Amino acid sequence: MSFTVGVARCGDYGRENVSRAVAKAVNRAGGMPENACGEVLIKANLLSPAEPERAVTTHPEVVRAIAEEVRKRLGARVHIADNPGFIFTDTAELFKKTKIDEAAAMEGASYGPLAEGGFREAGTGGFKALTGARISARYLDAAFCVNAPKLKTHLETEISGCIKNIFGTADTDTRKKCHNSRSRKRLADAILDVYSVKPPQFHIMDAIESMEGDGPSYGLPRKTGFVLAGADAPAVDWAAATIMGYDNPLDIPLLAAAAARGMGPVLRGEISLVGAEWDELPVKGFKKSSGYVRALPTFLRGVGYRLVSVAPRLDPDKCVKCGICARVCPVSAILLKSGAGDNFPSVQKNKCVCCLCCHEMCPTGAMAAHKNLFARLAEKLRV
Ligand code: SF4
Ligand code: SF4
Repeated sequence: MSFTVGVARCGDYGRENVSRAVAKAVNRAGGMPENACGEVLIKANLLSPAEPERAVTTHPEVVRAIAEEVRKRLGARVHIADNPGFIFTDTAELFKKTKIDEAAAMEGASYGPLAEGGFREAGTGGFKALTGARISARYLDAAFCVNAPKLKTHLETEISGCIKNIFGTADTDTRKKCHNSRSRKRLADAILDVYSVKPPQFHIMDAIESMEGDGPSYGLPRKTGFVLAGADAPAVDWAAATIMGYDNPLDIPLLAAAAARGMGPVLRGEISLVGAEWDELPVKGFKKSSGYVRALPTFLRGVGYRLVSVAPRLDPDKCVKCGICARVCPVSAILLKSGAGDNFPSVQKNKCVCCLCCHEMCPTGAMAAHKNLFARLAEKLRV
């Protein structure tokens, strides 16, 4: 198989710089397929109502520049959307805080939650982990979709890029079912199941300022300086993983599972990188997320999976007792103490599968991702 990924450097979110970089990356990737009719949906990553500077969400200047490209190249109407966790019901706040409302206004685009219009049962042909998936009707009905992820680390999947961004088109129950196991391989297959329902026609990634460390909610912004584009999500994610410092992106379960299904590259040589050399991509000292067991020598990995743990731990001083963590937990492992108690959430360790959804969705950072001794050791060993 052969794939093309367009790369353009971009040092900041200045309007002209971003417009230029997005146009260059798209051209270098061979251009967007010009078969769009009707409305084009831009699927941004709007995980939570966070300011753009936190690098949790796709930057509004990148979303604006993508809308501009779509308008100029395809002459189509643009709708910008995402489906943040069901806990963020105030979607007006979501689009305001992420400044997507301003980006949309500048390009005459509409915007709204992917949940409007409801969710539909999707076909399960080719599914490996799930027995069903409910996907946003608005997404399924869009004639053309441009995927616009933010490059971030992810405590569970290691990378949050093109493939992972499409996971956000599924409803809450489907997402919970994907997370209800300790197996990272199963999670990767479940995410690919969702992705395979309807892969977007094109992908443009905001890797200008990415998130490093323990993403996707509480990592730190890190300047990486690229816009990536292409028609194949796993290939664009492969380039993104290289930016993050992965020598072999197939170390990431999601990309390994995509390769095993014949959906993505198996070898770097299958990707034609246009606009940069491979050795120009890695950002020195970029802090990867998780992957602690992978850092152990091969012969120790079996035991490593049993010893290493990254589990939720409450910081009562930060907790506002909103109960969101209990509502997002896919296995109902969190109890909210009541009565004479303190109403703080309490994690039942025997039920918890360490998916860290509670950590990801906690609005105050009170549900920390606690690394045990072996996890900290494995992190130190990582090269
Ligand atoms: S830990 Fe976070 S999500 Fe859970 S109740 Fe406290 S503040 Fe809310
Ligand atoms: S308690 Fe948190 S980490 Fe454990 S299963 Fe529930 S959401 Fe996942």
